[in-house]
Amino acid sequence: MTARRQTDSPRDSPAPGATLGTRGTEHRVTALTMAALLFVGGLMGSVNLAVGGGVRDGAAHWVYIGAMALCMLISVPLLLRERAGRSQTFALVLLGDLVYVVVAFCLRDPAHYATPLMLLFPAFVAAWFLGPWQLGINMLATVAACLAGLWNNYASGADLTIQTAVNAGMLNATAVGVFVLRRRIQRLLAATQALSSTDPLTGLSNRRFLTQQAPRMWRQARRDGTRVAAMVLDLDHFKRLNDAHGHAAGDAVLQAVAGALAATVRPADVLARTGGEELVVLGLVGDGTEAHHLAERLRAAVAASCTDDGHRVTASIGIALTRPVDGDDPGDALWRLIDRADAAMYEAKRLGRDRIAAVDLPSPRPARPVEAVPLPPADDAPQAETPASDVA
Ligand code: GH3
Ligand code: MG
Ligand code: MG
Repeated sequence: MTARRQTDSPRDSPAPGATLGTRGTEHRVTALTMAALLFVGGLMGSVNLAVGGGVRDGAAHWVYIGAMALCMLISVPLLLRERAGRSQTFALVLLGDLVYVVVAFCLRDPAHYATPLMLLFPAFVAAWFLGPWQLGINMLATVAACLAGLWNNYASGADLTIQTAVNAGMLNATAVGVFVLRRRIQRLLAATQALSSTDPLTGLSNRRFLTQQAPRMWRQARRDGTRVAAMVLDLDHFKRLNDAHGHAAGDAVLQAVAGALAATVRPADVLARTGGEELVVLGLVGDGTEAHHLAERLRAAVAASCTDDGHRVTASIGIALTRPVDGDDPGDALWRLIDRADAAMYEAKRLGRDRIAAVDLPSPRPARPVEAVPLPPADDAPQAETPASDVA
């Protein structure tokens, strides 16, 4: 992900039919909701068996018992697995419609004992957990199920048509309402999540987002055998600029710098504003030389950036690398890495600003002066990821 937050990116906008959590949570909530509805539906339907004369005699009796038992039995694997995918959910929704039709045909007086309100269960699940086309198909199935369920209840075709339209219309209107509500909540949630991980002044990611990305970075580095590089950038003499030209000019410089850095980092790098005039770039690199090249491009991008009023600034950059090892806690390791890069950044300041300093990285002969500064060993550096040997 890049520097500027892409609030309309696929990552942020709700996928069609997505619910309100992560995919894992979504599958769990779907499974548990359906298990509860199927079990309660089967249990409530079984009450008809206790009502004398409710269920037809003969085969219909056993079909009815089988349908209720099936509902309750299906809820068991859902409860145990705590997982239901989209197509499984869709199949169960259609099964729910079918069960209603079977129940209606098995009862002597479906008008009294099998109200079309029973179809609210599958309609609700479709509206909350499924996508628009699946909801559309279930709305058609609802009309068909209402028609079948009410078939024997009305003498005239006109009555049957009107009652089917009323019942299916109310059920489908409710389903559409739930679907619209859910989409609205999803959008609000996505917008809130985007805001909570975005810096309002620059539009860059913030500290929270940076921390959230650590597990992904660490995982990928372990998988690919690469290293995680942290680059801490601190603008030089920024207070002076504020004092001389005002806070608004300082803000404009921060925005110009953010734009320049966003255009310079690689697509998979994470660029975040972590403090007032401090930024962090986190990326995967093969070795220290690659990190140096990237840092040099960042340094040059800041130096070349300029506001409409002609204000410029430079940055001092500190680099630190680590090779993630199994058992690392990415959250802790990230901030230890950033602390080391921060220390290197202060070395760059000490050596004259507008330059790069690194924790024992070999100098790749860059265009601008770059300092390879030996720092005391980092306190987080076990032998496997000792910064000096790690990056050599
Ligand atoms: P150095 O080269 O040593 O980093 O000097 P510096 O002046 O950049 O560092 P110092 O820490 O003394 O000052 C940082 C300044 O950044 C002080 C603060 O007013 C300014 N600053 C922090 N956040 C913002 C912001 O959001 N907008 C503006 N305009 N200024 C900010
Ligand atoms: Mg600072
Ligand atoms: Mg500064």
